[in-house]
Amino acid sequence: MRFQPTKPFIYGESPERLGASLKAAGQPAFRAKQILEWLYKQWVSSFEEMTNLPLSLREWLDKNYHLAPSNTVIVKRSSDITEKLLIEQQDRSLIETVLIRYPQRGVGQEDSRKTICVSSQIGCAYGCKFCASGLDGWRRDLHAGEIVAQFLHVARLEAERERREPKDGVPFDNIVFMGMGEPLANYDNVVQAIRTLNADWGLHFGARRITISTSGLVPEIRKLADEPIQFRLALSLHGATNEVRSRIMPINRRYPLEELLPAVAYFAEKHGRMLTLEYILIEDVNDSFDQAEALSRIARDLHAHVNVIPYNRVEGLNWKRPNIKRQMAFSQVLRSNQVSHTVRKEKGHDIDAACGQLRLRTEKERAS
Ligand code: SAH
Ligand code: SF4
Repeated sequence: MRFQPTKPFIYGESPERLGASLKAAGQPAFRAKQILEWLYKQWVSSFEEMTNLPLSLREWLDKNYHLAPSNTVIVKRSSDITEKLLIEQQDRSLIETVLIRYPQRGVGQEDSRKTICVSSQIGCAYGCKFCASGLDGWRRDLHAGEIVAQFLHVARLEAERERREPKDGVPFDNIVFMGMGEPLANYDNVVQAIRTLNADWGLHFGARRITISTSGLVPEIRKLADEPIQFRLALSLHGATNEVRSRIMPINRRYPLEELLPAVAYFAEKHGRMLTLEYILIEDVNDSFDQAEALSRIARDLHAHVNVIPYNRVEGLNWKRPNIKRQMAFSQVLRSNQVSHTVRKEKGHDIDAACGQLRLRTEKERAS
């Protein structure tokens, strides 16, 4: 399904484009700067609030741009520290955004307390066998403006709870593109959203605290490596040999490890940062000693940090997480090979934490 908004989202606009359309409407150049300040330094949620603009300009903005209004449909707080929000878009599509209030001990994230996990698409076309986001296929891409609006929606809620003001800065330490969808399959919108999050005229959020997670789209990883913004990359590896990876991730048949690993090495080299390898541990699928050994070799060659994530059950799928003993044995192999790694104590198990699940369930309920 394609969603063509009737007018552009203002959050997706660069200063240049906004300036050009204001100029064409006969407005002075300084108005673009004022509007960007209202959007990103004041976090207003309507054009009406832009009180230093003439009424006619506010009306013009309203006529020509969407402010991407979105509603929170459900907020689910887990017994631990995870909170999941289901946010409705204009076309009634639902996206998931997760807030994790927990020290992330991954590379470079030692000081992190609060991470926001954003979605880049509605559904996903890549069909990894263990993942709820891909179960119903791909529905549509999110526009850059919708991604930024998603972020601001949660930032406003969180700031209100903490009695913070926009001038106190964004209330998150990290942004990860690990929600629904494959960010690199929606490349232009994701990169434009990151520009807005990072820019001085935008939300001024440090690029090194932004991570894109990908299932391994080789040409886009290479293209991303050449982008000037210094964000981080996480690779969803989940299998340390082609045989195992292809069983659970169809993308591996298109871009096998011998093409994928040099592409991520190129990214690491261009960005001068350590990569993260995500490795979901699934019982009897990828949790053998052989896989742990093969994973160690890959991680050492790439100087990467490994995030071992015990699998989260997905309704309707038969995969299981290995027991603690087996998780520890896997970790022990990595340790003995001196691989930097963490075994994640999964948060939010009781709120459909695996991405895409809450949305699927809610859509089914809506349809019935
Ligand atoms: N499409 C991108 C980003 C979204 S998925 C990617 O695949 O990297 C974000 C992470 O959640 C990925 O590492 C994905 O493999 C993981 N994930 C998906 N389903 C999961 C589950 N049931 N349990 C644990 N992690 C899961
Ligand atoms: Fe898509 Fe990522 Fe889920 Fe695979 S793991 S289906 S790429 S969202």
